[in-house]
Amino acid sequence: MLDGMVTMIFTTLLGKDTQKGVIETMVKSVQEKMVPLVNQFDPLLSDGCVQISREIWNHMDLNNDGKVTQDEFVETFLHCTGCKFLDSGVYSVLFDAVRAVANPSMDTNGDLMDEDEGAFRRPCPRPATGADERQLIEEAFTNSGTMKEDDTWFLISAIWWRAWEAYTGYGSAPVTNGTFASPIENDNLLLQGSLMKGLRDGTDYMLVPERVWDLLKEWYQGGPPIPRKVIVEGMGTRAMTRVEVHLLRLTVKYDFSTASIEISRQATVGELLKSALALLPPYVTQSLNGKSLALVGPSGDAFSDTTKQLGDCHFFTEQTLKIEPEKADGTFVAKPFVPRRTFKKGHCGLSNLGNTCFMNSAIQCLSNTERFREFFLRGDYKDDLNPDNPLGNKGELAESFAGLVTSLWSGDHSSVSPSSFKTTLARFAPQFSGYQQHDSQELIAFLLDGIHEDLNRVKQKAYVEAKDSNGRPDDVVADEAWEGHLKRNQSIVVDLFQGQLKSALQCPVCDNLSVTFDPFMYLSVPLQLASDQTKCIDVFWIPAQDPTKNTTKCRVKVPVNSTLSTLITNIGTLHDVDPASIMLGDVLAFNGKVWKFLADTERISDLFSADVYAYEVPELRGAATPEVRKEKFVRLSVQIKANHRTAPTPVVLVVERTITNDALHNVVAGRLAPLWEGATDATADGSAMDVATSSNAVAATAAAVEEDPEAASTMEMDEAPQRRHPFKISVDRKYNPKSNLLPDDDSQGLVILDSNGWGEEVVGLEVELQCEVDFTQQWPRPDHESVTNVVSTSPSSASNSNMTLNKAMDLFTKREQLSEQDTVYCSNCKEHRQSYKEFRIWKLPEILVVHLKRFQYTRSGWGGSKLDYNVKFEVEEWDVSPWLVEGSPDKHNGNSKYELYAISHHSGSLHLGHYTAYCRADDWMLYNDSSVSKASGAAAIQDSGAYILFYKRKSPDGG
Ligand SMILES: [Zn+2]
Repeated sequence: MLDGMVTMIFTTLLGKDTQKGVIETMVKSVQEKMVPLVNQFDPLLSDGCVQISREIWNHMDLNNDGKVTQDEFVETFLHCTGCKFLDSGVYSVLFDAVRAVANPSMDTNGDLMDEDEGAFRRPCPRPATGADERQLIEEAFTNSGTMKEDDTWFLISAIWWRAWEAYTGYGSAPVTNGTFASPIENDNLLLQGSLMKGLRDGTDYMLVPERVWDLLKEWYQGGPPIPRKVIVEGMGTRAMTRVEVHLLRLTVKYDFSTASIEISRQATVGELLKSALALLPPYVTQSLNGKSLALVGPSGDAFSDTTKQLGDCHFFTEQTLKIEPEKADGTFVAKPFVPRRTFKKGHCGLSNLGNTCFMNSAIQCLSNTERFREFFLRGDYKDDLNPDNPLGNKGELAESFAGLVTSLWSGDHSSVSPSSFKTTLARFAPQFSGYQQHDSQELIAFLLDGIHEDLNRVKQKAYVEAKDSNGRPDDVVADEAWEGHLKRNQSIVVDLFQGQLKSALQCPVCDNLSVTFDPFMYLSVPLQLASDQTKCIDVFWIPAQDPTKNTTKCRVKVPVNSTLSTLITNIGTLHDVDPASIMLGDVLAFNGKVWKFLADTERISDLFSADVYAYEVPELRGAATPEVRKEKFVRLSVQIKANHRTAPTPVVLVVERTITNDALHNVVAGRLAPLWEGATDATADGSAMDVATSSNAVAATAAAVEEDPEAASTMEMDEAPQRRHPFKISVDRKYNPKSNLLPDDDSQGLVILDSNGWGEEVVGLEVELQCEVDFTQQWPRPDHESVTNVVSTSPSSASNSNMTLNKAMDLFTKREQLSEQDTVYCSNCKEHRQSYKEFRIWKLPEILVVHLKRFQYTRSGWGGSKLDYNVKFEVEEWDVSPWLVEGSPDKHNGNSKYELYAISHHSGSLHLGHYTAYCRADDWMLYNDSSVSKASGAAAIQDSGAYILFYKRKSPDGG
């Protein structure tokens, strides 16, 4: 009886034909009847109430935490009902009633008024279709914003996530029509309740923000939840935010009792101690009660500062610690408690912490550099520590490296964990934190440079003026440059690894020769010359005139070392179009959006996307400078949808900033009309629009028209264009979270509040067609004849099968003209010139590191490729003299002969590869993460994987 009445009240309150007068009556009725009754009211019994609460939620904008406060509720309620006069008591009653419906677990005893007055989460029933589900999840990602410290993110098994993606079409997944109802299945990430080791982000699990997790959990149930906190690593501008997925796993012992603990690296020693005591049997706490305690590591060192963060204690995962009470003399020091077993020194592996094989490979090569290693093992490095060097890492990187090398060469372990070294590294070079794969060359460069600055014996760097060679003899200029270098840099790294390179630049116009002698720490040698390569690029050509009929795929050949302006010129020639009216867009294949417009100055070699779209934009022809263009025009990236499908070809429009809403609709109609002109069920008369827009808000406003003519006039402006055109335009909020493209007031023109996050001012629009369109039929993209006619001339792998280190050195030292983007300033002409450059070695280091440039990265870090042919190199004796400057003292003094002792080796492709190291002490050993085994010799590893070669100088007498 009571339920029936409440249902009626609510249904009427928000019914489609609600009128203000009716609402007033109903609200009075609520005030009079519901307030006294609400305490006995059990909303769970009322389906009508559930329905009404959902209706209210559906009108609510989610705030940042995805929760609804009473104020937000009231605002929406007023908006939906048009009421303006309820007293606050009634708000509370309504709020509590709806909250109880939304979150039944909060209240089962009917005591609604005394419940927590806080906000609660909007209930979100699982949508009927995968596409709707995808949209809600995308919104939840967007609304979650960027990761902030202390946010909670959740791991979801990638297996389950991919199945869900296939159902919803999220990301790049093709939609498989069907149903999906499997509960979230995270058990495969866990082993005895703990997260398994070595799991990889994106491969084994996905990370989602809390609100995404809440929605998925609500819809699918299952679990268990694996929450992880967001932490900040590094300092200042190098600070990096990440989810701490893998917690520290420690064993804490006292007496014969042990406790296993998983804990954040940001927790303190005190917190660890407290957790340990809580887990250990009660007798431990009793016997230690009142005593001052410390945690002691395997080597007997005490961690008595309870405020210190665990990350700073260099604990590694699976380490054992003991609880020690303070001794009579005030110390905690204990005897080392790990039983000693001996291994051959240096034959010690490094465990993989999850994609850290690049680091393990680099460390093994450096630690097998004998003189470098001994410097750390003997402790000599301590004399050189320079913690105040602003270019260094407070000495901590050198100390941490010393610690790691000491364990590797202690003979106590068959394998050690580099986790504390990695933590230190991540603090100073957050780019290496996390668990993604990196380049061992980048790491070696960073380590040598970082250790150099930590151990720089020069405490006050002198200012050294660069002097022109001015035709003076090489030895004079070289010595002067080296002395200048030593005034600022002196360290073990300089002593062992640094040599001097002569670079000569000659102006092609005036022949002016500029010679410099620069220090080098390694040589990066090319395996092919960029100027010899051309690249074929497939481009979708979208002409301005009737794009749906005339879009084609064409193929354009360009030199690899040219820029996109060359590509644009060639496209213009191919289609007989003024290059000034061509814009290149990079389209993400999976969502059919232009995410970025490509600048003319970008290099071809940096081009990542396989989907380059060239748009003819006549509006830009003859337009003045980019600044004027920017002031006057705005670029619109338009994604076209019909029947929940997205057209593979996005459209780009350039419109004046002052364009009106109406005019924008006309521009879109002008461009896309062919899509619906042939459609049989086009609804250009607008009859479908009435259905599509008959939301409650519109109905409510329509109802209000009778009483408020002013409200009606503003509404018409939004409605009018939609009635004339068979499509709806909306702003893509993911592109422009804050943009307000379609103004309420038509006189405003376009309002753009922010860029799309890539520094590009692009407004993303979605045009939803209200008719049946088969994009593959109505918007075909046939191949242009160039696709079959244009052939690349890149050197094939086969032609490089005879590649040798010596040939790579020849390429490295070859005189070559700089490309258009690499011009240098000629001090004689006072102009930038495409000079000829030539490298030669002047001074050889004791340790010569040679990096074979197998990886061709793009600047974005995505894409790229690996040159995976074999490169033959000398092992026992390699004479470098052919590449020395003729007058170099090292050329004839017998100092130019080297012997190979280590190789950083990479197998697999650019992004999915594995690093190992081959190092020679007595025998060649293969270091493959934690395993160390005998290798069959360096000759056997002359394969496609040799990546960085470490040579040491042979003494002149051949020893
Ligand atoms: Zn010149």
